[in-house]
Amino acid sequence: MPPRDTKPMKTRHDTTKNAAEAALVTTDDQDNSSDTQTLALRARRRSDERGCFIIRGARVIDPTSKLDRVCDVVVAAGKVQSIASGSRKAHADGATEIDAEGLILCPGLIDPHVHLREPGHEHKETIATGTHAAAVGGFTSVCCMPNTSPAIDTPELVRFIYDRANLSGRCRVFPVAAGTKGREGKEIAEILLMHKAGAVAFSDDGDCIASAGVMSRVFAAVAQTGSAFMQHCQEPTLTHGAAMHSGTVSARLGLGGWPRMAEEIIIERDVRLLRHLRSPCRYHAQHLSSSGSVDIIRLARKDGLPVTGEVTPHHLLLTHDACDHYNTLAKVNPPLREKSDITALIKGVADGTITVLGTDHAPHSAEEKSLPFEDAPMGLVGLETALPLFAESLVASGAISWPRLIALMTIEPARLCGLDALGLGSIKKGQTADLTLIDPKAKWTLDPAAMVGKSKNTPFGGRRLTGRAVATFVGGVLTHHHESLETRLSDPLLT
Ligand SMILES: [Zn+2]
Repeated sequence: MPPRDTKPMKTRHDTTKNAAEAALVTTDDQDNSSDTQTLALRARRRSDERGCFIIRGARVIDPTSKLDRVCDVVVAAGKVQSIASGSRKAHADGATEIDAEGLILCPGLIDPHVHLREPGHEHKETIATGTHAAAVGGFTSVCCMPNTSPAIDTPELVRFIYDRANLSGRCRVFPVAAGTKGREGKEIAEILLMHKAGAVAFSDDGDCIASAGVMSRVFAAVAQTGSAFMQHCQEPTLTHGAAMHSGTVSARLGLGGWPRMAEEIIIERDVRLLRHLRSPCRYHAQHLSSSGSVDIIRLARKDGLPVTGEVTPHHLLLTHDACDHYNTLAKVNPPLREKSDITALIKGVADGTITVLGTDHAPHSAEEKSLPFEDAPMGLVGLETALPLFAESLVASGAISWPRLIALMTIEPARLCGLDALGLGSIKKGQTADLTLIDPKAKWTLDPAAMVGKSKNTPFGGRRLTGRAVATFVGGVLTHHHESLETRLSDPLLT
């Protein structure tokens, strides 16, 4: 089982259960690029090292308790002190009041799929810069993938991630550890020991475990931990030399095509393996791109298998046309496909087949993305734009409601990674105050140069967006606020 205690960590490495809690986080980051830093530090100084806030009149949405009404929420000493609605007006001495009329307050957003690139690829992103991007995007917890250098495949490396996040993170960071040594797909990694060290899930993301024999043994080992295995679904022999979706655009551009089947065949195989295990582990198919994959997952779930699926903003909004003119910003793994796939993915979210949203935040430098299409690395950044892009594709389109969108970005990924046991993913009196305040109507245009992450590789530059996180609280500490919040604050110190 994942760690359960939610008390702040006192020393590093002292117990296993503290490892996952350590994800919090001072705000004195090493990236000194932030106005929000000053604000957060001031807030911490003023009250018991953490801010005391009354968030007044927000539409409070907590999918777990089915709460959806206008309330006042008081945050102090790192926790939610009260949630009051109707005529009971909240009061707290010395609190900073936030006039949140017209805003949504929800559990802090959780991203189960990010690449923070540390250790080994710090020219693309670091834990400091990646978690800053997360805070700006409204995320309070992120789960980082093990395709670093070295790969996160030992208990020591799991603890290294916690230690680095504790020093320089702006949100909680939970490591997902490799299923096989070096992510080579050959030899099982120390799954039990890494679980004890605080790994919240297992994955060889970036690569698929191609051998069915190895996969089956990894499933059995992961099952003993109660964690989920997250599969990067790519049958490697079907994608040799592939640079983008196999279709009319790849044919016109003369680029190697990546068939849908490469994804579907792995999910099909894995579901078959799970059916034959006496006690299968929980299985999570990452970044779905193909309509056929949705059908396989729908059937597996109908049969009661512990299978979940995830979708990213780019697979919900862009097709292979985005790769036209050899646009490397749209080169991603798995590739952007066709309108029919988008329709199937949205339907999968709407009917409850796909229950988890993730960004697959994959930073790459401008130099790397300037290479010829075939040579450029795959991936795009997502933390700072996920919320408005998901709102556009899923809520504005009428597929799901705001409360369901919030569930898919909070309690569902929390359950996937066992973070609900830490009190994350929901809002409850007395529970850790990880909260996101959203302006669902804010209209803005994405300027990649204005993003805070180290890499700016997004195909959405110049897009008109609606909705943004205006304040992010981690354990009661304001880790980010957008300038539009300043006119809503009572406290002159903060304006
Ligand atoms: Zn992947």
